[in-house]
Amino acid sequence: MGNPMIPIVHHPAYEFDIGPHVFPTRKYRLVLDRLARENTISRDDVLAPHPLTDDDVRLVHTADYVRRINEDALTPGERAALEVPFSRELRDAMWLCAGGTLRTATLAMKHALAVHIGGGFHHAFADHGEGFCLINDVAIATAMLKRDGVVARVLIIDLDVHHGNGTASIFAGDPNVFTFSMHQHDNYPGWKPPGDRDVGLRDGTTDEEYHELLERNLESILARHDAQLAFYLAGADPYAQDQLGGLGLSVQGLRRRDDIVYGRLRAAGIPVAVTLAGGYASNTDDTVEIHCNTVRAAKAIQSGGRSTARTTR
Ligand SMILES: [Zn+2]
Repeated sequence: MGNPMIPIVHHPAYEFDIGPHVFPTRKYRLVLDRLARENTISRDDVLAPHPLTDDDVRLVHTADYVRRINEDALTPGERAALEVPFSRELRDAMWLCAGGTLRTATLAMKHALAVHIGGGFHHAFADHGEGFCLINDVAIATAMLKRDGVVARVLIIDLDVHHGNGTASIFAGDPNVFTFSMHQHDNYPGWKPPGDRDVGLRDGTTDEEYHELLERNLESILARHDAQLAFYLAGADPYAQDQLGGLGLSVQGLRRRDDIVYGRLRAAGIPVAVTLAGGYASNTDDTVEIHCNTVRAAKAIQSGGRSTARTTR
C-alpha cells in the first residue's frame, strides 16, 4: 500500500466569523487545502461528524450549564470568560466539533490513528467555559467511550502551550483517565488544577529540552498507565512566534514532538486520536504549517515508516 489512509474528520461549519480575533477559525480549511494539494490526504478521506445530543454533552457538563447555553442565558461574566462571542452558531459548531472528536476516537480504535482537523477545547470545565472553549470535546468523547464500554482506560496527552485546566478538573479523581499536560508555566490559565502529570515549562524553553522532557515523561507514564486509547492535543502554540505562547519551539521542533508522541504510542500499541487545539502564530501560515506537519507525521508512522522517535533509552 503506497498510500495508506489516515482517517481525517472535519466539518466546514468549524469556520465561522467571530470578528477580528486572534483565533483564526479559517486555519482548519487552510490545513485541509494544503494537505490535499500535496496529496498527503485525499478529500475522500475526510469524514464528517454528527453533532452530539444534549444527553451526550451532559455526561461531562452540568445540566444547568447546558440548559443556559441552549437558552442563550449565560451571564455577562461567563460570556467574558469565553473570550469568543457567544452565539447559536458557536453552540452548534461546538456540539458538532465534539461529535467530530468522538468520531475521530472511534476511527482511531479501528485504524490505530485518526486526526480531527478541529477540536482540543481543553479549557472548558463541567460547569463553565473559558479561553475560547465552550464545551470540552475530548472529555465528552472520553466519557462516551467509557460509558459504552469501548475503552476502560484513557490517556490524554495535552501539548498545547496552555495548561489543560478544564480536562484536569473534569477527570480529577478518575483513576481510569490519566491527564498529562506539558505547558508554559507562566501563562494562562492562572489557576491550574492538578492533572495526573503536569510539566510546567520555563519561558523560552527550546526544542532540545522540550523533547527530552517529553520522552522522559511519556516513558514513565506509559510504563504505569495501561491505556487502551490516547487523545493527543497537538497545539501549534508552543511555537516561538505564537502570539499567546512564550515557549521557544521551532516548526521543525514541533514536528519532532509529533514524531515522539506517535512513536511512543505506536511502540506501546496504543491507538491515538489527534485534535489540533490552539495555534496563534503572528503569521497564520506558520500555524497552518505546524498543524499540517502533525498530519504528515501521522502519515509517516501510518505508512510503517520508521518513526524518528526513540523507543528505548
Ligand atoms: Zn493554547
